[in-house]
Amino acid sequence: MNPASLDNLCIHTITTKSWAIETSAAKFAAAGVKGITVWRDTLAGRDIKKTGQMIRDQGLSIVSLCRGGFFPAATPADRAKALDDNRKAIAEAHALGAPLIVLVCGAVPGQPPTESRKQILDGIAALLPECQATGVKLAIEPLHPMYADSRSAVNTLGQANDMVEALKSPYIGVAADVYHLWWDPALEAEIVRCGKLKALFAYHVCDWRTPTIDLLNDRGLMGEGCIPLRQIRSWVEAAGFKGFNEVEVFSTRLWAMDQNDYLKKIVQAYRDHV
Ligand code: ZN
Repeated sequence: MNPASLDNLCIHTITTKSWAIETSAAKFAAAGVKGITVWRDTLAGRDIKKTGQMIRDQGLSIVSLCRGGFFPAATPADRAKALDDNRKAIAEAHALGAPLIVLVCGAVPGQPPTESRKQILDGIAALLPECQATGVKLAIEPLHPMYADSRSAVNTLGQANDMVEALKSPYIGVAADVYHLWWDPALEAEIVRCGKLKALFAYHVCDWRTPTIDLLNDRGLMGEGCIPLRQIRSWVEAAGFKGFNEVEVFSTRLWAMDQNDYLKKIVQAYRDHV
């Protein structure tokens, strides 16, 4: 398996969390990175349209906006509030020039996952008119089962593919993140299925550390853990995926590094392991 092309390297702004969006855009571009996924918090207090232009002026492609979702809630009023926030996210993506929003779909502790998945399906379906009006697509990101209590009741690529099939819309697909999916015995088969559905919209990379000491903020940089990155990329590419390999790392340890050195390390890790 050949190393991934540098032309397909995208970095999420959360990966270098302390940098403002202007800094991330300039430094990523100078390091030869070609794509950026923008987290919504970086847009606070900014003219979103101008920020999108600033990013494109650096020669970067805006790959997606992170994130929408969190559809399930205990009351109809709270579910309506969640939909409003997702409509806002779609408007932000449209203004930014981001073609895609990644969905962390949500879950409610104590509510059966089956009920949460029903609310997620209803929530996504309710957004289809806004997707059609703006051209912005939505990617369901299945999360590792350790987040099934409160962050997502969609925990396997199979479940995400089921939702894509149920919704039957060219605007709805999947974001496959190796951190959440690498352990799944059905992964290769579900990547094939996702490709056939033309629903593989995004591919996120990082690594799984042993031991993992924090459920959220101890992701590894590629090569620091046990995920068979090249094997999974070979499946993704065999399924027809030609998009960016997005480096998305939440790590208290790596955020504490000098972020200029860290960026060099990211590019090297991408060359060596993705
Ligand atoms: Zn991800």
